[in-house]
Amino acid sequence: MGSMLRSVPGTFDLLPQGQPLSEPAFRAIVQAAEAVLQASGAIPVATPILEYAELFQRGVGVTSDIVVRKEMYTLSDRGERLLALRPEPTAALVRAYHEHGMKVWPQPVRLYTYGPIFRAERHQRGRYRQFHQIDYEALGLSDPLLDAEAIALMVRIYQHLGLRQLEVRLASLGDPADRQRYNAYLRELLAPHAERLSPESQSRLELNPLRILDSKSDTDQALLEELSPEPLSAFLGPAAQAFQEAVERYLKALGIPFVYDPKLVRGLDYYVRTAWEVHHQGVGAKSALGGGGRYDGLSEMLGAGPLPGVGFGIGIERLALALSQEGWSPPAPPRPDLIVAPLDDEARLEALRLAEALRPEIRVELLYTPRAPGKALEEALKRKARFIAFLGSEERAKGELTLRDLDRGEQRSLSLSQLREHLAVTHQA
Ligand code: AMP
Repeated sequence: MGSMLRSVPGTFDLLPQGQPLSEPAFRAIVQAAEAVLQASGAIPVATPILEYAELFQRGVGVTSDIVVRKEMYTLSDRGERLLALRPEPTAALVRAYHEHGMKVWPQPVRLYTYGPIFRAERHQRGRYRQFHQIDYEALGLSDPLLDAEAIALMVRIYQHLGLRQLEVRLASLGDPADRQRYNAYLRELLAPHAERLSPESQSRLELNPLRILDSKSDTDQALLEELSPEPLSAFLGPAAQAFQEAVERYLKALGIPFVYDPKLVRGLDYYVRTAWEVHHQGVGAKSALGGGGRYDGLSEMLGAGPLPGVGFGIGIERLALALSQEGWSPPAPPRPDLIVAPLDDEARLEALRLAEALRPEIRVELLYTPRAPGKALEEALKRKARFIAFLGSEERAKGELTLRDLDRGEQRSLSLSQLREHLAVTHQA
């Protein structure tokens, strides 16, 4: 026999318990996010995991981590066009906006989605190849009020889950012309020292030296320390400057604390103006819980007409990690209302019929294999059930069942209709 296959490194199963993410934690996080986002009128949607690779090749930008580090999983579609497992959701939502004519909907169109994201990363704590995000996008209006609202919604989601040690780091990446001037400045500053830069940063020197600022390489950071470049904020034009001031003013008015972070650049190339990340002490200095920004140029990069947008992605695994470090655990699954225990083979089908008749109004679980009442009782207690119903030859003869209230320790014989009444179930079989 061959060896048993295992899951792919950097991927994991969602189980009732366990790391990095349990299914109940995933569910609780998504529910909290949905509560906040739906209350804001954002519309839930879902796009395919599989898209044309070109969507992201055009969308994320040639100097993004996804392209530079070859993080996109691509596959050939029977020799046709190259497909990709989505490495981020924003480009797909912008595609969907255009494909379904959302331009005629009331603007802005505010969408949210959640699900798996794929990146061929070197896997380590907090970094997986298949991870999950909750994603929000407000499309169709370039207005700092939407940026402030997006940041507020993101913070409310974390707060709704009870997360305490949040830090919102905010910056402006300027308009494309501002960035061009800043990149020219950085290139001039760094080019004479190119041989001291990491290979990744060298590859970015030509196209987008801005990305060198958040390099994780110590030698890059040492060089930056030495040269101490001016921050991007010094290069903002008046329009980007005014926009940024408005976002900051709105956040202050909303009572959302933030720090200005001149080093924040984000991993995707499409951001303009507002960019932010949310950090948590427990997850490590360089690991963001989530991030967002404005991407008014993305739609045109995808070959469609202009469409301003702002949005965020929340990493669900990192959020679960941060929450558990603050002592949080997801709600336990509800206890069964009733366990139905057949006492002999003949009662097995009757037990299933009873369960069927009572579901889904109440939670009913079966013991499939007949066992002695004492053993059945032990099992029901282990599962923390409220009631257990015994079905055996005596019950069959009387057309009744024996119901035991496990909380009160009381036992009685009942017909099915009396049982319904007793369990306050109105549902008809
Ligand atoms: P990004 O799309 O890179 O801005 O990522 C948004 C958020 O998703 C990050 O702040 C992380 O919380 C999470 N994230 C990104 N990449 C990974 C990964 N490889 N594994 C787990 N979470 C990730």
